[in-house]
Amino acid sequence: MKKKQNRKPCPRCAKAELAYGRYPLELSGTTYGEFDGYGCPNCGIVFFTEDSSREIRKIIQHLPRRPLDPNELNLMLLYSSKESIRGAVSFMKETFLLFKEKLQQFDVLALSPHFISYHYGPYSFDLVESWYDLEELGLITIEGRRSTNKETFSLTRKGRLEAKRIYDSLPEDLKKELPGWRRGLDELGNDGILKDVYKKYPEYTDRSKIKDRVLPKGMHGRA
Ligand SMILES: [Zn+2]
Repeated sequence: MKKKQNRKPCPRCAKAELAYGRYPLELSGTTYGEFDGYGCPNCGIVFFTEDSSREIRKIIQHLPRRPLDPNELNLMLLYSSKESIRGAVSFMKETFLLFKEKLQQFDVLALSPHFISYHYGPYSFDLVESWYDLEELGLITIEGRRSTNKETFSLTRKGRLEAKRIYDSLPEDLKKELPGWRRGLDELGNDGILKDVYKKYPEYTDRSKIKDRVLPKGMHGRA
């Protein structure tokens, strides 16, 4: 009898099966080659093969500086203002804009958080995983009801020290720009940021459940 094909459900989201293929190593919008691995078509996670991982490590070692990882993105964003970030949607979208716009503008390399189009626009399982990792590590506190506008993210004392170390290593111009930039986004609030992101990045809204509420009629489907 023929053996059944070995299908692996995604260990992270369990919503799809991992597919073998060539996946890009993407750092801040630039692709550094494609590598063999198993990827999830739903949440975007990729498990590179051992050989690929070895090649990728070599590439990263030879970069002028180590790329920022999702934990570091979250910490630097929180550090850029004395205020906490209110709302999971705001936090996610601010990190999205940080990655898509500010880091590229100032040539800061970061590992891609694998943004996918989800119910509230661009969404990254990597970043959400990082929120709860950072909380467990005692670097941030998360208060208020989960996944609501009231959910509040703040640095702990320990987190502030760790975030300062990352922040201090950023280019001077970026450090000067981030506080004002973040204040502007915080003031927009959840709905304002969503509107901004939906207008600028329609390619991340095709699975959105709230597009009709966020954008006026006639602005859909421009991707
Ligand atoms: Zn998945």
